[in-house]
Amino acid sequence: MPEKTYLITPGPTPVPPEVQAALAKPVLHHRSPDFKRLFVDTLTGLRTVFETSGEVLVIPGSGTYAMESAVVNLLSPGDRAVVASAGNFGERWLKLATTYRADVTHVEQRWGESLDAARIGDASADARAVFITHSETSTGVVHDVRAIAAAVRRAGDAVVVVDAVSSLGGVELAMDDWGIDVAVSGSQKALMTPPGLAFAAVSPRAMAMAAESTTPRFALDWQRIAAAQAKDGTAFTPPVTLVSGLNEAIRLIERDGLQTTYARNRALARATREGVKALGLELFSPDDDSAAMVTAVRMPEGIDGQDVYTELRDRHGVVLAGGQGPLRGAVIRIGHMGYMNRFDILTALAALELALATFGHRPPTPGAGVGRAAEVFAEETVDV
Ligand code: PMP
Repeated sequence: MPEKTYLITPGPTPVPPEVQAALAKPVLHHRSPDFKRLFVDTLTGLRTVFETSGEVLVIPGSGTYAMESAVVNLLSPGDRAVVASAGNFGERWLKLATTYRADVTHVEQRWGESLDAARIGDASADARAVFITHSETSTGVVHDVRAIAAAVRRAGDAVVVVDAVSSLGGVELAMDDWGIDVAVSGSQKALMTPPGLAFAAVSPRAMAMAAESTTPRFALDWQRIAAAQAKDGTAFTPPVTLVSGLNEAIRLIERDGLQTTYARNRALARATREGVKALGLELFSPDDDSAAMVTAVRMPEGIDGQDVYTELRDRHGVVLAGGQGPLRGAVIRIGHMGYMNRFDILTALAALELALATFGHRPPTPGAGVGRAAEVFAEETVDV
């Protein structure tokens, strides 16, 4: 095993030293004034990142817990719901909604496609809720949730629920402006904090709807969580150290500014794409600025992506991500979200070249990927 590990994945992502230092602070009691101050400040920061003036509910657990909270609080068994999917995480909404016995219309598209706003709007006329994904981590596609929300609003009264687990803090999500009722996310991706905190940003309309759902729930009950947060606290013992880390991470994002952070993400993605193509590889994810969070790279004919993934990890200490579901073996994914800079991208490209050489794929000239990415970085106006 190589001693040094480089985490260049779409989550969990590396944590900045400032966040690590915050995580190492003494444990606060969750009913203490110090924790309450920290928590209230963190909630304010989260509202800034979600671009909402509504409630952001904090839920201990991974992103899926916040997704599940949306389903149980918004839907009663038998309620009409629309799930749109074009990848693994869209399909997670389907599993959740059917688990809780919703009457689901599945707007299904091929993995890698962009969700079709008009089709989703048409399907949503008599639905109670529409579940969509912002950054589909399995394919690298960032869906146009703004256009989808507008189409759903035109069609009827369904609330729009967005999985922003791998987008929040990396690409813009202007929740209130775009008419999004619920957005869920997690701490471990662009928010540069270890896994363990999930968030559900909930509009007043969605909160009112939650009062009507008959689905049993306790710890994930939005009203219970909101009532505790109204008193600057949490219903149960929260992971206090993670709140401390997240608070620092949000401070770093606010220091750089949201728009600069998004621009940095796009710049890292651009260099990644150019580097990948210079290695003689093809992109699976879109070859444009929309693919700001994850670059999915097709493996050359006859090379199994899982073998490349294992070689990268075990021989080079470089952890990228393999393909999921039908893309397993067919793609390798490079995550460029959170605490990443140009050297992470150069490392990923260099390692990919080395690992692929083991399986017989070589670029036109040695170092072609790194060289091209360096050129792109040299042209960037944003500091990455
Ligand atoms: N949605 C998306 C888009 C994701 O990328 C992930 C995590 N890869 C999830 C949901 C699930 O989050 P978690 O693993 O934190 O439950």
